[in-house]
Amino acid sequence: MTQALYRRYRPETFADVIGQEHVTAPLQQALRTGRVNHAYLFSGPRGCGKTTSARILARCLNCDQGPTDNPCGTCESCVALARGGAGMVDVVEIDAASHGGVDDARELRERASYGPAQSRYKIYIIDEAHMVTTQGFNALLKIVEEPPEHVKFVFATTEPEKVIGTIRSRTHHYPFRLVPPAQLHTYLESLCQSEGVAVEPGVLSFVVRAGGGSVRDSLSVLDQLIAGSGPEGLTYEGAAALLGFTDAELLDATVTAIGHGDAAEAFAQVDKVIETGLDPRRFVEDLLERLRDLIICAAVPDGVEAVLRGVPTDQIERMRVQAGAFGPGGLSRAADIVNAGLSDMTGATAPRLQLELIIARLLLPGAAGPQGYAARLDRLERRLDLAAAHPSPTGGGASGPAPSRPAQPGPMPPGSTAPAPSPSAPQSAPTQPPPTQSVAAPSATPAAEPSAAPSAAQSPAQPEAGPTHAPPVHAAPAAPTPTPPAPAEPVQPTQSSQPTAGGLDQAAIIRAWPDVVDWLARNKRVTWAFVSENAQPLSFDGSRLVLAITTEGLTETFRRGAHHAFVQEAFMEVLGIDIRVEGVAAGDAPDAGRSGGPV
Ligand SMILES: [Zn+2]
Repeated sequence: MTQALYRRYRPETFADVIGQEHVTAPLQQALRTGRVNHAYLFSGPRGCGKTTSARILARCLNCDQGPTDNPCGTCESCVALARGGAGMVDVVEIDAASHGGVDDARELRERASYGPAQSRYKIYIIDEAHMVTTQGFNALLKIVEEPPEHVKFVFATTEPEKVIGTIRSRTHHYPFRLVPPAQLHTYLESLCQSEGVAVEPGVLSFVVRAGGGSVRDSLSVLDQLIAGSGPEGLTYEGAAALLGFTDAELLDATVTAIGHGDAAEAFAQVDKVIETGLDPRRFVEDLLERLRDLIICAAVPDGVEAVLRGVPTDQIERMRVQAGAFGPGGLSRAADIVNAGLSDMTGATAPRLQLELIIARLLLPGAAGPQGYAARLDRLERRLDLAAAHPSPTGGGASGPAPSRPAQPGPMPPGSTAPAPSPSAPQSAPTQPPPTQSVAAPSATPAAEPSAAPSAAQSPAQPEAGPTHAPPVHAAPAAPTPTPPAPAEPVQPTQSSQPTAGGLDQAAIIRAWPDVVDWLARNKRVTWAFVSENAQPLSFDGSRLVLAITTEGLTETFRRGAHHAFVQEAFMEVLGIDIRVEGVAAGDAPDAGRSGGPV
């Protein structure tokens, strides 16, 4: 039976420790100059070489030629402390997880007072030092504070903050770090070479990722792969399957589908993920990793190979094409979505659903593709609803009964007629005659106002809407400088009925307001509190929504703060329309309704 890789390749000198030069270099320097402290604290993540370095330090200190930064390797001490060596009685390793109590500490203190048996120093390596109890530390305090000449301590721990301050302050603290992927990759490559193992491109990247920056973990993974490999060595497929990484083809297909906005294909890939038993969370991690790679591909057209080490060339070619389909903006946006989705997946009970949601979100903006996109449909339906709601039979309540349940296809869900708390307010405040009112009678009073309006008709969203509604209401808060002149002017009203943003007119926007407020309540609490108390939609001209805000001061707040941006965002989320939102003090824009009641 062969010995585990990480034991066979355990470094015996500081020069062999990889990725910790920031620690090993100063330690070697201290050894060279004879400025060795009597106590050290080695902290850092697991499997990064803390204990190994402690042993090397012991070897350096006790070498016959030492203390030296480069142990001779031939003297009795060096041989005994080499890997596979018998060890020395004077170098004591204590696992504080099992021996961290006060009695163990007392015993240690006792024994430390005797001089070393064979070596220069008696060296205590206390592993998992954070497990030493407080009483244990207190028992050690004295000897760590003023140790006998011949005693050295090395505390190794993943949680240095749990080592009591009085001990910590007596030590020289060396923080170990995770090994950077590139360095680990190179190391694994050389190791495979010396083991005579053939490795397909891409395999070591998996190993590095699986190892998470820990040398020991990476070597364990590699060990396992080698153990299960045949004469052909480490294959990409075998590694992907064993380590549970998403096979590149699956990622390729998914990313390509998303890039092209092909919903059917993208969801088909999700099915595959589930069918093949892949962990959805792992898949999302891999997807994020891939998007990261694509961002790099897009950002560094030349020399990607140098950055994405270990990625096969043909794979890089494919990724270039994929990156092109997204465009740089799309890529970073996609990465954001996946990243957010990944955090939502933590502890999620329905990971598959989460995965599908992520995919749906990724697909949303790419307006391409006729099918799929539940969320997009959702928005479209909402908009249709709003438009369909136009022929409201009850003229007066027109804007009140906003279809609060957007999903409902019916033009006017019965239940929804009841004016919701906030929605009912809007019309009442600015003007009693809600804009939609006139809509009710398609033929009735088309001529009433400016004739320009009809242009609206081309949007399917509001077939009957066009002609009639051009109540002066819209006119009011024309621009940032809301002044009286506007009201009567015929031109402005017409604008308002022009369906620009998503084919929605002012009436539709007002009907949608409760949903927007609702979204804010769920997503932007502060803005919701502000808006639901102080703001009402006043007018909408197709691209700009003006909100009437109760006071001048609050209007200022609205303009300066993020509120208006969040309201815009809400419209984007709820209706999928990109509009500008402005606020005017209610007092400033009275003309809107007060003066020119349309009816
Ligand atoms: Zn030696």
